[in-house]
Amino acid sequence: MRRRTDVDGSLSPVLMPGRILEELSSHALERKLEECCGLIVGDDRERYQRLVRCRNEMTQRHERDPLRYPRDGTEAFYMNEHDYQRAQEEAEAEGLRVTAVYHSHVGGAAYLSTMDLEFAESEWFPFPDAEHIVISLSNGAVSELGLFSRRGLDDVFRGRSLKALLP
Ligand SMILES: [Zn+2]
Repeated sequence: MRRRTDVDGSLSPVLMPGRILEELSSHALERKLEECCGLIVGDDRERYQRLVRCRNEMTQRHERDPLRYPRDGTEAFYMNEHDYQRAQEEAEAEGLRVTAVYHSHVGGAAYLSTMDLEFAESEWFPFPDAEHIVISLSNGAVSELGLFSRRGLDDVFRGRSLKALLP
C-alpha cells in the first residue's frame, strides 16, 4: 500500500508569521505549473524568520535522464544543491539554521506523498530535523497549507494546518 501523510484535522494548527505565509503562497503561485521549493531559516526563539527560495531542477533532470527521474517538475521537486547549501551557510553565519523545507503540489492536496516521505526520511537528506511544509494549489489559487513534523528521527511525521500568527 502506498503510504502518505495527510493533515490531521484533530491537531491544533501551527502558527506562522503572516509575511512568511504570504511568501510561501506567492512563490507557489509564481511557479504555477511546476512545484516550487525552498527553505525557512530561524532559531529556537523565532523558528520561522526568513524564507529562501531554491530552484526546482526536476524538469532538467527528467529531460536528461528520464529513467532515473521519471517525473518532471510538475509532479516532483529536486532542490538545486548550490541553492540549499548556500542558504544553509548563510543561515549558519547568522547563527540560524534550516527549520523547514517547503514545496508545492500543483492540483493536489497538502500532504506528504510516498516520494516526499522517502526523501524526508532518507539518510542523505540534508535537514533531518527540519519540518516540511506543503502548499497546495488548485485552479490557480492556494487551497491549503500543511506543516509536517516529527518528534525525533524514529517518530512518524504528523500533519497540521498552517495559520497566520496575528501581530
Ligand atoms: Zn510533495
